[in-house]
Amino acid sequence: MIRFGVGFVAASLVAIGVALVGALASGVRADDARATVVIDPGHGGADLGARGPHGELEKELTLAVAKKLAARLRAAGTKVVLTRKSDVFVALPGRTEIANRAHAALFVSIHANSAPEPDVAGAETYFLSREASDDEAMCVAMTENDVFKQAGTADESADVVGAILGDLIRTEHLRESSALAAAIQRQLARLPGASRGVKQAPFVVLTGVNMPAALVEIGFITNPAESQRLGQRDRQDAIAKALAAAIGEAMVQNREARLAIDPPQAEEKP
Ligand SMILES: [Zn+2]
Repeated sequence: MIRFGVGFVAASLVAIGVALVGALASGVRADDARATVVIDPGHGGADLGARGPHGELEKELTLAVAKKLAARLRAAGTKVVLTRKSDVFVALPGRTEIANRAHAALFVSIHANSAPEPDVAGAETYFLSREASDDEAMCVAMTENDVFKQAGTADESADVVGAILGDLIRTEHLRESSALAAAIQRQLARLPGASRGVKQAPFVVLTGVNMPAALVEIGFITNPAESQRLGQRDRQDAIAKALAAAIGEAMVQNREARLAIDPPQAEEKP
């Protein structure tokens, strides 16, 4: 077992801090930057993510769907930044940093779910919260945070994750993140299969992201039928289409909300 120890965790904390300070220092950017979306295909490289009953890998499903989603968004004129474009490992703080450097309008992390019981199925979407909405949501967050916890020593890792979440959970994008998660889940619920709703949990990858953000679990890779479906090109296309529609919806909503709060100067009467 490789242990990176406290030094690595401290470096990760610094990386998150630098990303945050950078984002804050640059302030709000022009509309072209607001039209950028960061898509985060979960896992990659040595971090395989969850595994299906026939060897299906979460890291491959998330990348396939992310690429299809990116193509759709680009075709619609949206600038897209992927946190990874191939089968490589990117640490969770590195993903946050990529998102903040892009000064994006939205951040969407794509994952596939796992459960000990093979009959559990369906899609669910999360936005960040210190408290999980239920025990199952907490389990999902713990599983997705595992790659980060492995970087710390076994005894300290849980506390380190807790400390980071406590310090860095940002609340100013809560409403927009909640709306983004709702839009994603609404679109996914239109596809065949179960909808497990919108939930909240403490995901490290969403922590410190200086923009509205959501994490979608596109289905259970541990369910044999769902895992097989998730591997099909048609299903991946349908998921990408649903996510693109939700992202478009959320971007319009956010733009309208900003205009309502901060109307253009030209409309002011002398
Ligand atoms: Zn995952």
